[in-house]
Amino acid sequence: MIKSRYTFTAEKPDSAELLVVNYLTGAMDLIEPLERPEFEKRLAEDRWDGYALANYMIERGYLYPDLKAEQAMIQQKYREFSLEYEKTPVQIIFSTTLQCNFACRYCFQEEYNHYREVLNPTIIDQFFNYINNKFKDEPVKPYITLFGGEALIWAEGYRKNLMYLLERSRDDGYSVAMVTNGYELLNYVPWFKENRIAVREIQVTLDGDRQSHDSRRVTRGNRGTFDRIADGIDLALRSGYRINLRSIIDKDNMESLPRLAEYCESRGWLDYPRHLFDTALGRNYELHTCQNTNKLYERLEMWQEFVSLAKQYPILKKYHRPQMHGMRFLYENGELPPPIFDACPAAKKEWAFDVRGNVYGCTASVGVDRYKLGSFTNPAEPVNVEQIRQWQSRDVLTMKACRTCAVSLSCGGGCGVLANNYNGSIHERNCRPVKELVGLGADYYGLG
Ligand code: SF4
Ligand code: SF4
Repeated sequence: MIKSRYTFTAEKPDSAELLVVNYLTGAMDLIEPLERPEFEKRLAEDRWDGYALANYMIERGYLYPDLKAEQAMIQQKYREFSLEYEKTPVQIIFSTTLQCNFACRYCFQEEYNHYREVLNPTIIDQFFNYINNKFKDEPVKPYITLFGGEALIWAEGYRKNLMYLLERSRDDGYSVAMVTNGYELLNYVPWFKENRIAVREIQVTLDGDRQSHDSRRVTRGNRGTFDRIADGIDLALRSGYRINLRSIIDKDNMESLPRLAEYCESRGWLDYPRHLFDTALGRNYELHTCQNTNKLYERLEMWQEFVSLAKQYPILKKYHRPQMHGMRFLYENGELPPPIFDACPAAKKEWAFDVRGNVYGCTASVGVDRYKLGSFTNPAEPVNVEQIRQWQSRDVLTMKACRTCAVSLSCGGGCGVLANNYNGSIHERNCRPVKELVGLGADYYGLG
């Protein structure tokens, strides 16, 4: 008998109980304090002869009779994952400009080239010719995500072109998501409605309550933006569009989250169903060059802070439900989510484009020269076949560091751009504190 390579344990904060987890089979059990010493000893030695719970552990997939039996299970689950993955729609990201009408205090995109090309009808037509051909055999219709700089600028010249892009999306059958600072939603939403644009989701950023947000996210003229964005969100919701409200969290604004949650509650947003209003807490400074590095959170630290704040202010529990590596899923569905063999969709289910005619793998790499994969305007330009191969072969069974990692089927190998930036290769690891978040999440959701 052998221990599955995917069996691991996690500790709930301030508890003597131990969680044993296996994402391959979706098993999670609690080991009582009295059983714990023997269990941990056997686990460390991988020795199971005469163990009272051995049969149960085989049934749950923590143990296998031999390596071959485990390998067969891995192959079966990988096939199931691949079949489901295939059905995921491709996300086509279009970075329509690098200009922005905001001058946020904390971030700047210095890594990006500030090029002269602007959105125009020719590039839009070339974009649609390319994607209509490239993705014509996809089993599910892809969708387009508008990305910036700021995608929803209202300046007349830009707006005319963006509207043309949106009309073409509608006419060619693509729904559209957008990542925006939300400042011009009041202008754009009525136009979306009148022109029957299939808006899939609007991701907007509010960095805390009014005071906190307005100390960070200001116009180029240094004016606060909270009220106008909030009115835009409200209009979008009343128009039937899905809002994904995101906050970029660091040590400066975490404490303002309860007040943001109360504000959302007062406007009735928290009563919309999750498919129309949802929230996200981000640390996107991980991907971009940032100032104030001493204010930034490590991933685990941010969720520990959130959990402790939510205990003090229960409104936060209504405002946001952290995923915590399947703990939210388990809480809501009574089972763990299926294994994730690959968490990075770049150049598989995600492709990105910019107005220079360049093609990239995803939002984190769009506009950065070293990640350019090809051109959609110049067929004579060589395609970066080697880098595409690296992206497309990236999963936790091909990445050396991840192959034997017990938590890999929830981590999925992390982000390829971060792996490359910090560890020197797209196929390197970008680890997540899975065990710690499982313990924290199990406690938060009262599981086990
Ligand atoms: S490289 Fe990172 S940001 Fe890009 S698709 Fe992969 S996980 Fe997402
Ligand atoms: S990136 Fe790290 S934590 Fe994630 S699967 Fe690979 S080795 Fe495990």
